[in-house]
Amino acid sequence: MKKIVFISLTLLCLSSCKDVAPSDGKLNVVTTTTMITDLVKTIGGDQIHVQGLMGSGVDPHLYKASEGDVTKLAKANLIFYGGLHLEGKLIEVFEKMKGRNMTTIAVSDALDKSTLIGSENFASNYDPHIWFDVQNWELITNFVVKKLSEANPENANLFETNGKKYIQELEALDIEIREIISTLPEDRRILVTAHDAFNYFGQAYGFQVVGLQGLSTATEAGVQDVQNLANFIIDKKIKAIFVESSVPRRTIEALQAAVTSKNHQVVIGGTLYSDALGNDGTVEGTYIGMFKYNVNTIVNALK
Ligand code: ZN
Repeated sequence: MKKIVFISLTLLCLSSCKDVAPSDGKLNVVTTTTMITDLVKTIGGDQIHVQGLMGSGVDPHLYKASEGDVTKLAKANLIFYGGLHLEGKLIEVFEKMKGRNMTTIAVSDALDKSTLIGSENFASNYDPHIWFDVQNWELITNFVVKKLSEANPENANLFETNGKKYIQELEALDIEIREIISTLPEDRRILVTAHDAFNYFGQAYGFQVVGLQGLSTATEAGVQDVQNLANFIIDKKIKAIFVESSVPRRTIEALQAAVTSKNHQVVIGGTLYSDALGNDGTVEGTYIGMFKYNVNTIVNALK
């Protein structure tokens, strides 16, 4: 009996204690999506502890906090999240955290509201997929530098240096993306995906964007939506449609089947990273790598 108790306590500690940051005086920062985790790690370097709640392939719209997450949040000094109701089911948890000795920061606060794309599908009334315009991400980089520096003034110079270097990389990325897209004829720049994650991408880089589901994956596409979109694909002679790593394939497969049933062909052009990056340690596991991968996948399939 004693042995069993010991084992279960050990297991309990294995699952929750490993995430507790050592008390070395460094800032404990918790982030939500992989895009935000990548950015905060890039700026903070090894001078802060960063724990991301969501991994690769995780859908932020549906994500619910686990017990382990609540423990991480409770020990955090700073929490960075997307905001604009991106993490629909975490809002309540964040509300509960208020009043404790920590700061919760929505990275979307970096952007002027007048530059956001409106949406009736979110309680915020805005489309939260702001990271798909690289210039937004540059503004957000500066914002994260500022917030980390306020919380940890001793390392402000380092955060600033890392931020400046990263913004140069983002500027280069923005130029590279535009060059790749310029090889695709304008009338082929129509992006059909599972959910409406790419509106900022479309606005910034000149694509018409159509999502089968609404902006949030919480809303399912109806049969009529699938038929309408199938007709649109045939009408516009669209060669390829795309699945997303954080959304089940079946919605896009249903769309492909609807096109086939009307005696036309559309291929699945690949898997795009929409609301989560690729696996840790891979090129697509970084914001910059993810963006290049998406753009190359889109352009190659639609050419
Ligand atoms: Zn989304």
